[in-house]
Amino acid sequence: MNWFLILFAIFFAAEHILEYCLTFLNLRFVRQHEKEVPSYFRDKITLEEYQKSIRYTRDRAKLEIISSLAGIPVLWAMMLSGFWVRSLGHSSIVTGLIYFAVMSALFYLISLPFSLYSTFVIEQRYGFNKVTLKIWVTDLAKGLLLSMVIGIPVLSAVLWFMDRYTNSLWWLYVWILLAAVQLFVTSLFPVFVVPLFNKLTPLEEGALKEKIRALAQKVNFKMSGIFTMDGSKRSTHSNAFFAGMGKFRRIVLFDTLVKSLSESELLAVLAHEIGHNIKKHVRKGLLLSLAGSLLGLYILSLMIRAPWFYEAFGFQTPSSYAALFIFVKTSGSFLFLLEPLFSLLSRKHEYQADRFAAEALGTAEPMIGGLVKLTKDNLSNLTPHPLYSFFYYSHPTVMERITALEKT
Ligand SMILES: [Zn+2]
Repeated sequence: MNWFLILFAIFFAAEHILEYCLTFLNLRFVRQHEKEVPSYFRDKITLEEYQKSIRYTRDRAKLEIISSLAGIPVLWAMMLSGFWVRSLGHSSIVTGLIYFAVMSALFYLISLPFSLYSTFVIEQRYGFNKVTLKIWVTDLAKGLLLSMVIGIPVLSAVLWFMDRYTNSLWWLYVWILLAAVQLFVTSLFPVFVVPLFNKLTPLEEGALKEKIRALAQKVNFKMSGIFTMDGSKRSTHSNAFFAGMGKFRRIVLFDTLVKSLSESELLAVLAHEIGHNIKKHVRKGLLLSLAGSLLGLYILSLMIRAPWFYEAFGFQTPSSYAALFIFVKTSGSFLFLLEPLFSLLSRKHEYQADRFAAEALGTAEPMIGGLVKLTKDNLSNLTPHPLYSFFYYSHPTVMERITALEKT
C-alpha cells in the first residue's frame, strides 16, 4: 500500500476520533451540570431556560456526529475516485471543472438532508427557525450562482497556471491570483455578498445614533458603515459582526439584536465591533491566511511531481485537477491539530474587543448585560467542557468573557 495513503488515513482517523471524544466529553460534562443553573446566572436564567439550552446543545451535537459519520464513506469514495475517473476527451481545464463540479455536487447532496433537518426540525423545535421553503430555495439558487460566478473563472485560471508553468513558479502565480481574489472578496463581502441575502439599512437617526456618534468621536472611529440587517427573516438568533475593509467596512447589527438589547447594551456591542476594526482584526486574519496558502501551495508544488502523490488515490496519470483536489481534501486532516491555535487567536481578538468596549464606555456593565441576554436568547451552552471549548470555540465562553470583563 502507498505510504501517503496510509499517512492520510492515520491523520483522518485521529481527527475524527478526537472530534467524537471531545463531543462525548462535552455532552457528559453538560449532563453533569444539568441539575443546577451555574451560580453566576442563577438570578438571570431560570432552570427551565437553562435545561432547554442543554437539550438544544445535545440535539445539535448528535446531528453533527451523525452527519460527520455519514460523510466518511462518501469522502473516501471520492478520495479514491482516481480509480474510476477517466478523461472524457476534453481539455484538462474542462475536465477539471467537470470533476470539481461533480465532486462538489456529491458533497452537497450528502450534506443536504442534515442541513434540512437542522433548519426545519431542530431550529424549528426551539423556536429559532423563520426560513420558509421559498427562502430556502432562493438562498440555494443564489449561493449556487455566486459560487459559480466566482468559482468557475478562478478554478479555470488556477488550472491554467498549473498546466502552463508546471515546471516553474506556478504556485507563486496561483498564490498571487488567489490572494487578489481573497482580498477582493473579503473587502467587498459586506457590500456585494451580504446584500444578496439580506437587507442592510443604515442605523436610523435617534438617541442611539447620537450616543454612537459621541462614542465614535471619543475612540477616533470614522462614523460610517453602521447598519442593521433583517436577520429575523431567517432566524430569531441574534448577532452582530464586523466585515469588509477600507471604505467597504460594515458593522452589522441583526434586527433581532436591536430588539432584544437595551440602548446601552447595544452601544457596548457596537463598541466591541469598533474594537475589532480599530485593532485591525480582519486584516490580521487575512494576512495569516495568505501566509498559510503561500506555504501550502509551495508544499503542493513539491509533491505534485511525485508519483506516490497520485498513486495514493488511484489516479492513473498525473493531472493538475487531481492534485488540487487531493490537496484540498487532505490538508484539513493533516492540519487539524492547528485548529486550537486559530481558535486561540480568534479568542484573543474577542478579549481585546471586549476590553476595548469596556474602556470606551468607561464601564463593563452594559457589555456583560448584553452577553447575558445574547446567551439566553441564543440558548448558548453555559457549561461546555473546557477541552472542547479550547479546541473549537472561536469566542471565549460567556463565563470567561464576563470574568475578564469584570477585571477591567
Ligand atoms: Zn467579536
